[in-house]
Amino acid sequence: MTIAQRINQIRQHLPSHVRLIAVTKQVSPDIMRQAYQAGIRDFGENRLQEALSKQEHLQDLPDICWHFIGHLQTNKAKKVLDSFQWIHSVDSLSLLQRLEGYSVELSNPPQVCLQVKVLPDPNKYGWTIPELLQDLPRIEQCTQVKIQGLMTILPWGLDETETLKAFETTRDLAQELNERSQLQLRELSMGMSGDYHLAIKAGATMIRLGTILFGERLK
Ligand SMILES: *Cc1c(COP(=O)(O)O)cnc(C)c1O
Repeated sequence: MTIAQRINQIRQHLPSHVRLIAVTKQVSPDIMRQAYQAGIRDFGENRLQEALSKQEHLQDLPDICWHFIGHLQTNKAKKVLDSFQWIHSVDSLSLLQRLEGYSVELSNPPQVCLQVKVLPDPNKYGWTIPELLQDLPRIEQCTQVKIQGLMTILPWGLDETETLKAFETTRDLAQELNERSQLQLRELSMGMSGDYHLAIKAGATMIRLGTILFGERLK
């Protein structure tokens, strides 16, 4: 199957409110161009240097929306702000506040999601639910940066029931935060190649797909 055929096959079954983000880490600019020609406009990258090099290769395609989805060190925050429209992986108060500081000067501040760990996972970044509730007053004060929703990545090895439940917990958390604060979280960035159908069932608005579109990565 060609990339275009895979993309079309997946898109056919997506509800219209779900935004498909093609995760292109380790995918070459030539393949990305094929995805673009098949209609993809949202690309997700998790490494800044790799992404910048691809942006240069693809600069003749002006309507791409770039999504940063990897862990972001605060010292690279400024650079990411300059070259991405979305940052899904805002995983700490200090990073959020750093982005907030830079956003004051921007005419087009970034749209961000807060990354949460709804289940314990020592290998992942992000707020736990209690941490997020505790930081809520300070998160709320960040009004320059556009806080649009929550993002989550689930731990390995959950069965379908556990997976669905964890996505539903994320959805319910967004609603709770909206009720308790001035935040208006509308986006749920959740679901990858193996679990996106369950994420959509739980209300995902953005799914991040890599393997199912482009095949296995090297590592
Ligand atoms: C790699 C990655 C994805 C895509 O994962 P697949 O299983 O290849 O679809 C989604 N989200 C994040 C944050 C990633 O790093």
